[in-house]
Amino acid sequence: MKNSNYNIRLFNFLIVVFVIIIMFYPPFAELIYARPGGGSSFSGGGGSGGGDGDIGLIIYILLQLPPEISIPLIIALIVFKIYQSKKNKKEQGAVTSSETVASRASKNQNIENLVETLVIEDKNFSKVLFLDFAASVYNKFYAWQNTPEFKNLTPFIDINDKNVIISPNKIFREIVVGSLRITDIQFYEKIVGIAVDIDANYTLIIDGKRTRYSVYERWYFNRTRGVLSVEPEKLNKLACPNCGATSDFTDAGTCNSCGTFIERGKMQWFVKNHKILSQVVFNTSGIAHYEPERGTELPSVFQAGLANKLNVFGTKHGHNIEIWKNTFYGSVVSEYFIKIYNAWSKNNLSSVRNLLTDRLHESFMFWINAYKSQGYSNKLENISIRNIEIVRVDIDKFYESITVRIYASALDFVVDKSLKIVGGSNRRQRDYTEYWTFIRRAGVEKDVFDYDTCPSCGAKADKMGDGGVCEYCGTKISNGDFSWVLAIITQDEVYSG
Ligand SMILES: [Zn+2]
Ligand SMILES: [Zn+2]
Repeated sequence: MKNSNYNIRLFNFLIVVFVIIIMFYPPFAELIYARPGGGSSFSGGGGSGGGDGDIGLIIYILLQLPPEISIPLIIALIVFKIYQSKKNKKEQGAVTSSETVASRASKNQNIENLVETLVIEDKNFSKVLFLDFAASVYNKFYAWQNTPEFKNLTPFIDINDKNVIISPNKIFREIVVGSLRITDIQFYEKIVGIAVDIDANYTLIIDGKRTRYSVYERWYFNRTRGVLSVEPEKLNKLACPNCGATSDFTDAGTCNSCGTFIERGKMQWFVKNHKILSQVVFNTSGIAHYEPERGTELPSVFQAGLANKLNVFGTKHGHNIEIWKNTFYGSVVSEYFIKIYNAWSKNNLSSVRNLLTDRLHESFMFWINAYKSQGYSNKLENISIRNIEIVRVDIDKFYESITVRIYASALDFVVDKSLKIVGGSNRRQRDYTEYWTFIRRAGVEKDVFDYDTCPSCGAKADKMGDGGVCEYCGTKISNGDFSWVLAIITQDEVYSG
């Protein structure tokens, strides 16, 4: 009798363990949202949140009942949970469910409030610039593994972090950062920490064998509190935060140009820790497959206080905002949309290189090449714009950014080398919407780009190269210094502000 009681307890215990595993094992639970552990740095250690907090309590209460009642109930609960998660999985677009978008939108609103708090103590903080810096560190972290250049990251990465040197026989190539987003900001007494989630692709070469991966990583940046962000010129390209010289540091982290020892976190952000949240082999075999369009019918996600932000923008530039909107929609959004997708359809972006940020250009090229690797090409024809609306305006000291939702319609299909259609349709128009984010350097008044000439020297804009630099005068055109550049495209089913 005693023995069977023991067995029942053991059984109950195993059920609890099983349920806990189910609740927290992806895709059952959302990615665990990291919280900082200690108070001295922000590195994502410590406890975890998220998941289904009530379930433990329910099971605990059930276990107080006699086993002949509790066990069937617990089994029923497990069956229900499995059914529920299967159903959720089926509806994936779980991302398309407006509830998920709403909950992510509310998380984003929290982040936005935290960014505003940070700007109060660092009026130079610019989200655009910070994320650009994060992308550069990420890129070089992989590109420079096991090379002498890796030392140039000394001021920007905690070299005591055990993840820093990956393995001498691993080489990373074709690193493409798809998107970055701030997912947390923490304020401690002496430091401030920012978590950035990064969606990327890279080719990993081990002993000559190449594998392309899609990865999702979380990087933790730290900086001393009360520091003013360095100006854009010093934030770009991992330059010395003291003199602005292009990154060239000793092993110890002293700038070879000005001789200043750059102590991590004193002037500039540095990486305290990072982790890979998911890594899957990137496969192009299904690239021509079309799913039914999702998210088109979802309501637009508007920034809180948008009308006010638009007024601030209008006042700053002396615009009547309604008149300005028409110019922006017509001469920027529509023009860019049509030009960029026409170039995309031709698999040749050189004619729109000056309209895209470096990162977006790189990301486009990645997808064009992914199609090419299968002998395919994606075509968008008969493009028309049905509507445009502004959903978001961000203004900081150095950059302005405007996000619009574009309602469009096009023949969207994939052809092989003999121009045979292998996916989509060249007869049926496909309605879709996308969120496009444009950025421009603060202080620039020009809305309309003269597409065909270099805005710096006036020469023909026919030699911009992959780097977006005019070959006639050497000026970089693709960073928003002259007019709007397209920085981000987000699909409607995932856009959450
Ligand atoms: Zn220096
Ligand atoms: Zn030029």
